[in-house]
Amino acid sequence: MCRPVGAVAVKCLVAVFAAAVVGVAAVTRHPVTVVVSFDGFRPDYIKPNVTPHMAWFQKVSAAPPYMRSTFPTKTFVNHFTMATGMYSDKHGVLDNYMFDKHYDKMHYTYEQFHYDDAVVPIWIHNEINGDGRYSGVMMWPGSEFAYQNKYPTHIQKYNSSIPWTDRIDKIMSWIKDEKKPANLVYAYFEEPDHTAHLKASDSQETINQIVRADATLKYILDQIKHEKLENKINLIILSDHGMDTVTYNRMIHLNEYVSNTTYKSIMSGPNAFIHPNPNKFDEVYKNLSKVANTSRTFNVFKQDQLPDRWHMKNNTRLTDIIYLLAKPQYAFWDTYFEFILNGTTKEKFKIGAHGYDNAEPQMRAIFMASGPAFKKNYSAVQFDNVDLYPLISRIAGLTEPSRQIDGTIKGVEQLLSVGAAPTFTPPVLGIFSALLLQVIARSRL
Ligand SMILES: [Zn+2]
Repeated sequence: MCRPVGAVAVKCLVAVFAAAVVGVAAVTRHPVTVVVSFDGFRPDYIKPNVTPHMAWFQKVSAAPPYMRSTFPTKTFVNHFTMATGMYSDKHGVLDNYMFDKHYDKMHYTYEQFHYDDAVVPIWIHNEINGDGRYSGVMMWPGSEFAYQNKYPTHIQKYNSSIPWTDRIDKIMSWIKDEKKPANLVYAYFEEPDHTAHLKASDSQETINQIVRADATLKYILDQIKHEKLENKINLIILSDHGMDTVTYNRMIHLNEYVSNTTYKSIMSGPNAFIHPNPNKFDEVYKNLSKVANTSRTFNVFKQDQLPDRWHMKNNTRLTDIIYLLAKPQYAFWDTYFEFILNGTTKEKFKIGAHGYDNAEPQMRAIFMASGPAFKKNYSAVQFDNVDLYPLISRIAGLTEPSRQIDGTIKGVEQLLSVGAAPTFTPPVLGIFSALLLQVIARSRL
């Protein structure tokens, strides 16, 4: 409840007055930004007859034809890059599955997301900035862990059984929270990636999930409209990477060529970490290079041979590792694929994969942004997803983080409307500004 007592009396009364006059929910006086990620949603999935709401939203938003993913084009890597503004060599999440410091497999562990304790996701940095800023994080990869012993105020851990509409209702309740209203929300939806992995991108099952994502966007827009927050909420719809297709005849069975007694490996679609046994590094590298040169289905890298543009080579987690990357439409065979093959035949085996070079068109992601901070009907130039952090930071009026980020505002400044809340707004003025915006701005969501 809003109790007009003491120093908060004026602010509280003005907030009540504002809500009563325009009939809107009581929310933070800061700009509100909601970032929604649909895992593995490829730009070419958007078609007016399949995804009418996405197609419309893309048109009225500030939107590039696509957003460039970070290498490797994997889920944890890209969600953590978007959350930290850093490339993988700095934040240390090099894949969904990777070696820990003892060269054992780790997957979604505290250690995986804490390569450097100075790396802090934006939902924590938002709250460190204080002044009534609260974050809400719905299942975003990496959000279940504390950073510098802090969690966001509002959090829902990953639970795929929670209906998507319930997730959105929860997000709206965070924004409308009377005591700690969220000014920053990050939300994650696990489709269409999950289904495309099992059935490939062009299957009816995957198309159903693409349609489901479209219906979810409509539900979000309906809720924002219902709460009369069209001119308060900045809504960003994006994805982490694209998706390619692999058939059985393009599976690379590495063990058939190189004895797996000479190394430990972690294979994950088109990406593989190889850790040779003691004194076996040169031998394993030579053998793998020979297979790569003959088959021409993958490339082999020592750590210092990784291309600079992948921003991965300077990470100590690659010490004594040989890195393999399959060419598009190829992947390394592992137990996950055996599981899929159990339900089909080699002839019909067709799956989705990602993790390829981020320069590959199939690995591109979506981005569209709408709300008071953004230009309307704006066809933007494509940019890197590492720049999402400075974009959100600018809108939320945040200070520079203590660990220097890689993203810059340069590539994303084009999206912002003129005078879009670049800096701190004094409390009372902020409320009247919001009121004024309600009166003069036309509805656009
Ligand atoms: Zn993903």
